[in-house]
Amino acid sequence: MTSAAIIVAAGRGTRAGGDLPKQWQLLAGEPVLTHTIEALRPFVDMVVLAIHPDDREKAAHYALPMVDGGSTRMQSVRNALEWLSDKGIENVLIHDGARPTVPGHIVRSVLKALETSPGAAPALAVTDALWRGTSVVEGTADRTGLWRAQTPQGFHFDAILKAHRSALQDAADDVELARAAGYTVAIVPGDEDNLKVTFPGDFLRAEAILKGRRMDIRVGNGFDVHAFTEGQGVWLCGVRVPHTKALLGHSDADVGMHALTDAIYGALAEGDIGVHFPPSDPQWKGAESQIFLRHAMQRVQERGFSLSNCDVTLICERPKVGPHQGEMRAALAEIMGVEIERISVKATTSEKLGFTGREEGIAALATATLVKK
Ligand code: MG
Repeated sequence: MTSAAIIVAAGRGTRAGGDLPKQWQLLAGEPVLTHTIEALRPFVDMVVLAIHPDDREKAAHYALPMVDGGSTRMQSVRNALEWLSDKGIENVLIHDGARPTVPGHIVRSVLKALETSPGAAPALAVTDALWRGTSVVEGTADRTGLWRAQTPQGFHFDAILKAHRSALQDAADDVELARAAGYTVAIVPGDEDNLKVTFPGDFLRAEAILKGRRMDIRVGNGFDVHAFTEGQGVWLCGVRVPHTKALLGHSDADVGMHALTDAIYGALAEGDIGVHFPPSDPQWKGAESQIFLRHAMQRVQERGFSLSNCDVTLICERPKVGPHQGEMRAALAEIMGVEIERISVKATTSEKLGFTGREEGIAALATATLVKK
């Protein structure tokens, strides 16, 4: 199913204050339009911008297809639809450039509704009382069955293109056009956070919404111990380190990687290695520990997080870890698919105290920080 999003950003509206049209004003350090694009891009195969001709240069760095906006919203959308008409698009979302905080669940609901309806759009039921009047209340209106329309409005591509081509007069939005052409438009739940930035105060609210989402930071810790046994050399953080002993364990006994993997599972509140790879299951006997770490990182991806950083501390008298630190960081970076500067590996002794001091085994501590994308 090939899908596209049209972002309508050709308006010159400056009701939001400032000299620039609102889609170009800064929100949390980036133009409003940048946030809008980022909000939709994960859900569609292609994003097209309807841009005022004067803004082409400003929008060039997005490296997205652009069409000229028309004198009305409807004309802007029409231009984008015509541009898309030979691209094999089946579903199209049409979204206001000035709605930078649209939550992902809305976009998913609209796309889902298109499986059974030629059109679908988010809306919120009107809950406030409605009055008529100018400076005094002259009457009330029944709010039953009234909705506040939001975007993205989604359509089967052929249907909305046909609706635009056959339109006889200007329409407020694409839902109106689709209905005029005889298509059903389903209502999906909107969200108060799907703000249309219109007035100066809206920027503060939009910024608070974005900040609230960005603040989803998870920290997990992990701890592991493996005892020494007879053998030659140990696996530590993905590196084979020469030693006069080996580490005892069900898998390759990479104590550092185990602590790190548990830290990641911990940050996700998804248990530990033992939950995902039960030691009672013979298939994990002698397993390379990178299988566990790769799985934990896959879960990070699937849950919509990215790893911000991690820090592993190995506790032992011997072998000396220092000479291998760089190699360990590189090995973990490769397995985890993150930049090496996000990964720290360090070592300490326990001043000859305790089981690590008596060289009976190695202990490892790890911390991992995840950030919601
Ligand atoms: Mg272990």
